[in-house]
Amino acid sequence: MSITSDRPVGLGQVDVEWYDAPGGYTGVEPTEEWAAEVRRLARARNATLLAHNYQLPAIQDVADHVGDSLALSRIAAEAETDEIIFCGVHFMAETAKILSPDKTVLIPDERAGCSLADSITADELRAWKAEFPDAVVVSYVNTTAEVKGLTDICCTSSNAVDVVASIDPDKDVLFLPDQFLGAHVKRETGRDNIHIWAGECHVHAGINGDELTAQANSHPDADLFIHPECGCATSALYLAGEGFVPEEKVKILSTGGMLDAARETGAKQVLVATEVGMLHQLRKAAPGVDFQAVNDRASCPYMKMITPAALLRCLREGRDEVHVAPDVAERARLSVQRMIAIGNPGSGE
Ligand code: SF4
Repeated sequence: MSITSDRPVGLGQVDVEWYDAPGGYTGVEPTEEWAAEVRRLARARNATLLAHNYQLPAIQDVADHVGDSLALSRIAAEAETDEIIFCGVHFMAETAKILSPDKTVLIPDERAGCSLADSITADELRAWKAEFPDAVVVSYVNTTAEVKGLTDICCTSSNAVDVVASIDPDKDVLFLPDQFLGAHVKRETGRDNIHIWAGECHVHAGINGDELTAQANSHPDADLFIHPECGCATSALYLAGEGFVPEEKVKILSTGGMLDAARETGAKQVLVATEVGMLHQLRKAAPGVDFQAVNDRASCPYMKMITPAALLRCLREGRDEVHVAPDVAERARLSVQRMIAIGNPGSGE
C-alpha cells in the first residue's frame, strides 16, 4: 500500500514513495538528501529528534540526541521545542510524554512495541496486587504507562537493586516484568519476600549462557561489556552473576559507562552482550577496538521498525502521536520520579 503524502516532497529533486510492509514502512533510502530533509523538517516543526541506542545507524546519526530511554526522556523534558520525535519503542515514547505532558510526542511507527512491556497488562497487575494487597510494586521501565500508573516505584537495570533495598524488609515486593532482572535483584538483596513476574524480552533468547561461555572461551583476551538497559541483556547480567564467565572480564555498564569504558579499554577486542544497535555508538567512540556482538542475531525487530521511511512519514504527516490519559500520566509520573530519586538510575548519552 502506498501511503505517500501529497504534501511537498522536498527530498532534493527525488520523488519518494513509502510503503507499509510487515517490518514497518519502507521504500526510502537513508541518503544524504534524506538526512538533510529530515533535519529541515524537524527544524520546521520545532521538534527535537531523539534516537535510542538500538536504532538503525542512519537514525542514530540524524538525531539530535542518542541515548538510553531514561536519558532521552530527561532530554525530552528539558527540550525547548514544542515537539519531541522519539525514535524508539512505544513505552519509551510514553515515558517521554509522562515527563513532558505539555509537549507533543510523536513516534514514527506506533506499532513499535516491546515483548517485555507486553508481558504484563494493567489487568494482570491489578489481579496480582489483589493477591498481595500490602506489597510494594516495583516495575522495570519497560512497561506501559497504564502499568506504571499502578506501580509504586519504577526502576532501571542500574538502580533496581537500590530501589528494592530501599523498601522496608518486612514488606512483600512485586517485581515486574523481567524475570532475569528480578532474579538478579533477588540474589543481590538476599530478599525472600520478592515475587517475580515471569516476563522476558524475546531478544534474550539470542544471549544465553552457552553462547556467553563459548564466546568468552574462544576470545580469551577480550573484555565482556554487558549493557542491560533495555531488557535484551538482563539474562547476561544474571548469567555473569552465576559465574558463566570469569568475573574479572565482565563489565556491567550503563550507556555512558559503556562508552567511557570503550575509550579506555586496553583490550583489542570487546564482546558486547546487548542488542546489536549499541555497536554503532561503541565503534564511533573507539574506532581502534574490535567490538563484536555476543550474538549478532540479538536485534530487536520493534526498534528496527523506525525506518528512514517511517521517520520521513512522521515528519511530513505529524504521525503517530503518543497519548497518555492525564490521570494515568499523573500516577505514572510519581513512580518514575521515585525511580529518579533512588540510587543511580543510569547515565545519559
Ligand atoms: S530489545 Fe527487548 S526489551 Fe528492548 S525494546 Fe526490544 S523487545 Fe523490548
